[in-house]
Amino acid sequence: MPGGFVNMAKRDYYEVLGVAKNASPDDIKRAYRRLAIKYHPDKNPDNKKEAEAKFKECAEAYEVLSDPEKRQRYDQFGHEGLRGVGMRDYSHMRWQDIGSIFEDILGFGGGGFEDLFGGMGGRRRGGRRGPARGYDLETTVEMSLNEVARGTEKTIEFTRQDLCTGCSGTGSARGSRPGACPTCGGAGQVVRGGGFFQMVSTCPQCRGTGEVITNPCSRCGGTGREPKHRVVSVRIPAGVHEGQGIRVAEEGEPGRDGGPRGNLYCYVRIKPHEFLERDGNDLIAVVPISFTQAALGATIEVPSLDGMKELRIPPGTQHGSVFRIKGQGLPDIRTRRTGDELVQIMVEVPTKLNVKQEELLREFAKTENKSVFPKATGFVDRLKKYFSGK
Ligand SMILES: [Zn+2]
Ligand SMILES: [Zn+2]
Repeated sequence: MPGGFVNMAKRDYYEVLGVAKNASPDDIKRAYRRLAIKYHPDKNPDNKKEAEAKFKECAEAYEVLSDPEKRQRYDQFGHEGLRGVGMRDYSHMRWQDIGSIFEDILGFGGGGFEDLFGGMGGRRRGGRRGPARGYDLETTVEMSLNEVARGTEKTIEFTRQDLCTGCSGTGSARGSRPGACPTCGGAGQVVRGGGFFQMVSTCPQCRGTGEVITNPCSRCGGTGREPKHRVVSVRIPAGVHEGQGIRVAEEGEPGRDGGPRGNLYCYVRIKPHEFLERDGNDLIAVVPISFTQAALGATIEVPSLDGMKELRIPPGTQHGSVFRIKGQGLPDIRTRRTGDELVQIMVEVPTKLNVKQEELLREFAKTENKSVFPKATGFVDRLKKYFSGK
């Protein structure tokens, strides 16, 4: 499970598309179109992987900046503001599918994206489109370290493009059926050019289905989709790591033409703990003690996931030494074996001593036979004398 889910550090969407904050919808559309062509993986055979990543990044930026509601939330709250709005999960998508999501913008007249790039990986060449799986969505779940230790059940709310209630997703008004496409006569393809150079491509009007909606549903205007609020409960296993994605099957967008739903990916974000830091399945606590505790030994209190715990430290404990408390860490997501808590000792030297303490320390210093500064006042007096030449 670890790795492969690096979606945490996202770039600014305006920067991704290279547009100003006040760019108009047209500017944004143009910028996206230009970049989608530039980074199209088939156009970048030498660095296909990098181009694909950019291609996906641009699609995500465009999804947000082209949608007035998402753009407003992004402007106000940044990436955080898009949690739970049902963003499509481009990182798990085939880049070929991204082309078809934005076919409207990327298409040039006739065959759309397909024409432009010489076939979307051949997927739809020459024929009707069958049912296709819906798009994946992604969201973020925030967890505390305590929840990581035990595992948890989270309620996730989001809005997704769902099947229209008025027409059950068909796009046609109740009781009416789509008619044959007038452009292709129901074939789903059109032939262009003449003589030698005949080109068969997907019909631009029906996009290959051979049918068009003649009596659109009044609720969705014929798209068959409407935004719906959705609440799902997600079981998150103990031991998950920052950035890991939990797949919730079939909670994404509905598929086209009755195809199955996409998935919902919930990415884990772990809230920082005030006193404990995670290191794999271990927890690290840095605990300050006084120099006398370090020298003489003591029982000290250390923070743990279940409150304060006692820890005996032996006489002569050094600054920076680490004590391991077995089994007080986090469970491994696979093996269930529990990690340890590591307590790192920080010896604090007092910055202020009262008269009695200073006297005692000076006595102690004599026994060590080490040179220490003389009493502060005397020292300052001598300095003064020295610089005044007396
Ligand atoms: Zn047609
Ligand atoms: Zn409808």
